[in-house]
Amino acid sequence: MKELIIIGAGASGLVTAIVSARRGKKVLILEKNNKIGKKLLATGNGKCNITNQRPTLEHFYSSNPHFIKEFFEGYNYQSIKQFFKSIGLELIEAKEGKVFPMSLQASSVVELLVAECEELGVQILCEIEVQKIKKIKNFYEIIHNKGIEKTKLLVIATGNLSAPQLGGVDDGINFAKMLGHTSIKSFPSLVQLTSSMKKLERMAGVKIESRVTLVTKSGKIIQRQGDVLFTTYGISGLAILDISRFVMIELLKKRSVKLTIDLIPKMSQEQLFALMRKSLVKKSSKPLTIWLQGFINKKLILPILEPLKLENETLNTLYSNREKLDSIVYKIKNFEFEVNGSRGYKGAEIATGGVDTKEINPKTMESKKHKGVYFTGEVLDVDGDRGGFNLHFAWICGLKVGKSI
Ligand SMILES: Cc1cc2nc3c(=O)[nH]c(=O)nc-3n(C[C@H](O)[C@H](O)[C@H](O)COP(=O)(O)OP(=O)(O)OC[C@H]3O[C@@H](n4cnc5c(N)ncnc54)[C@H](O)[C@@H]3O)c2cc1C
Repeated sequence: MKELIIIGAGASGLVTAIVSARRGKKVLILEKNNKIGKKLLATGNGKCNITNQRPTLEHFYSSNPHFIKEFFEGYNYQSIKQFFKSIGLELIEAKEGKVFPMSLQASSVVELLVAECEELGVQILCEIEVQKIKKIKNFYEIIHNKGIEKTKLLVIATGNLSAPQLGGVDDGINFAKMLGHTSIKSFPSLVQLTSSMKKLERMAGVKIESRVTLVTKSGKIIQRQGDVLFTTYGISGLAILDISRFVMIELLKKRSVKLTIDLIPKMSQEQLFALMRKSLVKKSSKPLTIWLQGFINKKLILPILEPLKLENETLNTLYSNREKLDSIVYKIKNFEFEVNGSRGYKGAEIATGGVDTKEINPKTMESKKHKGVYFTGEVLDVDGDRGGFNLHFAWICGLKVGKSI
């Protein structure tokens, strides 16, 4: 009989192990991958956006918002900063409240977590894939590809479906179901979006600071600002990842989605109109396709002019016609982009949904159905915005279980 078994050597599993081992527990981690922390190594483009200084509740989502509120009580950015300091990892603060390891390397996060585990005598076994969990009287049997373990204390820290190429699976949700838990359906989030619009390749490769707006069927307006990258499959960039959760909800309800993109968000419609109007100083036979290059990326010009049927016009047309200039400015500020899907879990930073948090104690992360069983991180029905919020949740889960187990 093992004292404490953790399934999954990812973000939340490693922190749980360290805090529990510091409190005297003998810990065994079972990890199916051949390497520890594969997903962690890919976070923040290899720099690991480890947390956020301002983890306010509106950055987190769950079908049970009450859980999120109770979960964060007594825990904040400082809780995480102190923990990482205790393993020798200094953090630095960047813009938008984002926090990174001082080394700017995700590998340093993994290596220091693992080194601390080793020092505390935590046993980590890789290439052990748990297949089944059975409750037998007052203990649990963990059946894996190389044998069986038994324990009275079990932590399920197995993540969810995002990034299957890095080991993302929904095994933990299946284990929860084996134990009688219910789960909330998942979909990919923080993900690139696809489109079936014609001639996408014409815009492909253009990266532009934009403001993206989604108006939902119910009339809710959601806006995100940041880079937008047009691609051959559709659209990507930080503003798109940020809005993807809300787009996916619309798509899952079988609604067509049209994003409105402000291609020059730093200027109002009036300012842009005035700027363009000033350049029309004299009559000229310069094509509009050339003139517009003074304002916007060349690859976007035909997609702007063609729907207005102005692609073959010259400046002379605009000189005497305010309405036509107006329509160009409007199009730049309200560029429509149709979306029909996402790049799926393979492109997603996070999977929404997971084990229903109504069945979990938010103070301890213990199952309300089974004494001694705990859930941490992405396996639960909680997901966060981009900006360090998902790891923030995972680390705090680990701190909570470690302290209560
Ligand atoms: C490309 C990418 C970039 C990201 N960047 C950021 C970022 O910068 N900031 C941020 O906050 N979040 C980021 N995230 C999200 C973040 O990585 C996750 O929220 C976090 O890793 C979840 O931690 P976890 O402990 O729940 O699961 P994970 O870290 O996914 O760990 C789960 C572990 O369990 C193992 N496992 C699963 N099933 C079994 C089984 N049956 N048997 C044994 N082992 C099993 C898995 O192999 C894995 O090692 C990013 C995600 C991706 C994909």
